[in-house]
Amino acid sequence: MSKPLALSKLINHLRESWQGLPDSRKANNNTKYRIVDACLAAFSTFFMQLPSFLAYQRTMEQSKGRSNGQSLFQVEKIPSDGQIRNLLDPLTPDQFAGEYRWVVDELEKSGHLQAFRAHQKTLLVVLDGVTYHSSTTIHCDECLQRQDSQGIIHYYHSAITPVIVKPDSPHVLPLPPELIVPQDGHEKQDCAPGRHPAAAKRWLAHQAAYDTTWTKTYLGDDLYANQPLCHLLAATYHQFFVFVCKPDSHSTLYQEIALLANVGGVTTLTQRLWKGRHAEVWTYRFASQLPLRSGSDALFVNWFELTITHEKTGELIFRNAWITNHLLSSQTVLPLAQVARTRWKVENETINVLKNHGYHLEHNFGFDVSSAERAWSKTLVHRPVYPQFARLSHPYRSTSRR
Ligand SMILES: [Zn+2]
Repeated sequence: MSKPLALSKLINHLRESWQGLPDSRKANNNTKYRIVDACLAAFSTFFMQLPSFLAYQRTMEQSKGRSNGQSLFQVEKIPSDGQIRNLLDPLTPDQFAGEYRWVVDELEKSGHLQAFRAHQKTLLVVLDGVTYHSSTTIHCDECLQRQDSQGIIHYYHSAITPVIVKPDSPHVLPLPPELIVPQDGHEKQDCAPGRHPAAAKRWLAHQAAYDTTWTKTYLGDDLYANQPLCHLLAATYHQFFVFVCKPDSHSTLYQEIALLANVGGVTTLTQRLWKGRHAEVWTYRFASQLPLRSGSDALFVNWFELTITHEKTGELIFRNAWITNHLLSSQTVLPLAQVARTRWKVENETINVLKNHGYHLEHNFGFDVSSAERAWSKTLVHRPVYPQFARLSHPYRSTSRR
């Protein structure tokens, strides 16, 4: 029986690790509060998913002399939201990468990571992006930019925030994020043809240096379904992928599917699922060894599609298609479709959590323009210290929905 990872052990580790974070305050500044306390206080709010947690803890501290913030989260003195922001703003997200890895390592040691293994015993890692700052006025040198149809420039920051997921599990394990930087290329409007794959490559290099034990299946949007990234994953890192594959961005591959379909080269399977009041028809189509793009050096991938319709009305409920380097057969296409849809499920559920629990957090820590204008007009520093903050306060996603 594997032991759970106790909160106290996590907090002890965080406290020890965050003691060593650099303090950029000048000696004559107010140094009553320590950086480690600001980090733990911020962490406690996000851990509890309660925007008013710290305010309540301060009241408790004043009336009873001690609070849960102190006893559970080991915050010695609870700083105000403004002080937390001042203390954490100068820190960079990579100063926290080790903490993500520590949690995964601990779960591996205790046997919990085993339980996350899914298709072909691989770990499923969702490579998705999040935009966590967006403004027409506040910006820094590292801001990404886009121009809207009125010619107004929007400044924003995006990151890839990979998480380990499992079908039918409500739990996800976050891995260190990778910031998308202006050097990652240009993009038009909201779509990002080049940036996400560029940042994903950097993330993979960091990850590969750290973790060689587990084989993974990477899940992602259509913009990851390109030859350089798929080739890198399959040939260099010997990993698997299941990426959304849309017809408009993969014309060669879909021409091939149309040709194959004419000669019976696309296999079709159907399933009838009873949904309480009506039945759904789930239709799977798949074909193997298709060129991902035109040209003699094209990578060959396997393709599958799932269409869900209402049995009686014929109404289309869901349709999507993916490419993969996992083997496709009548036995594997169903579990692979489940794997592919795990990404969508997690994304939807994450957004629900954000809407229902995390929304007000932006008023405490973040990037709401009114307080941000005041706070950052002086410094123009607006990096989040902990990517989850961003994820929670800015549910807007830069990648297109499914
Ligand atoms: Zn910026």
